[in-house]
Amino acid sequence: MSPVSSSKMPATIARRGLMLVLSSPSGAGKSTIARNLLETDPSLEISVSVTTRQRRPSEIAGKHYHFITTAQFERMRAADELLEWAEVHGNFYGTPREPVEQAMSQGRDMLFDIDWQGARQLQEKMKADVVSIFVLPPTMTELQSRLHRRAEDSEEVIRTRLLNSRAEIEHWREYDYAIVNDDLDEAFRNVHCIVKAERVRRDRRHGLFDFVNSLLTEEPNL
Ligand code: 5GP
Repeated sequence: MSPVSSSKMPATIARRGLMLVLSSPSGAGKSTIARNLLETDPSLEISVSVTTRQRRPSEIAGKHYHFITTAQFERMRAADELLEWAEVHGNFYGTPREPVEQAMSQGRDMLFDIDWQGARQLQEKMKADVVSIFVLPPTMTELQSRLHRRAEDSEEVIRTRLLNSRAEIEHWREYDYAIVNDDLDEAFRNVHCIVKAERVRRDRRHGLFDFVNSLLTEEPNL
């Protein structure tokens, strides 16, 4: 007699959404890794931050950032509409609260391209839902030449970012994972593997409970 399974394997096992935090000094390749990740993994969505900094020519309002005034930023902060916020390189940045709360309650995964101050606030508030990755440059010289190659910022801005990069790197220990971006493809593959592994963590998947129960109550077909 051929074994006939009576239990139904669910198409997906319900789990909480994960909050993938990527941080690095400017120019370490974090944004490229984030972009590749979003293209490869359609179930991951990016959290679009608000910022008071000037839009770069290549940036699209509403896609890369919501560009707002300092007065608008202060209003959002006072109204508790930001899940976290920070001043970075002399500008304000913040994560709008509502899209994140919606995604989390629906078990969707979100990607955050934020600095160490934001990472710390999310880790404190969202605890186990946060998976944090720090992207390191292979050398400081390489970091400098990547910033120049981008050629979207003034010399003055590049100088500030380089000076701040050391302070950002000092926080590497606060992250779950650290990746050296020597080879972009390899760095991306590593990040993707982390996402896949974190999605199957037992403690993230509350749906496993029912699934395993159904396995154990299935009559053996002896
Ligand atoms: P950029 O001006 O190069 O787009 O970003 C500068 C830095 O601000 C980057 O390290 C970026 O990750 C960080 N950043 C962008 N959005 C946010 C945010 O919403 N919150 C925090 N804390 N940092 C952010």
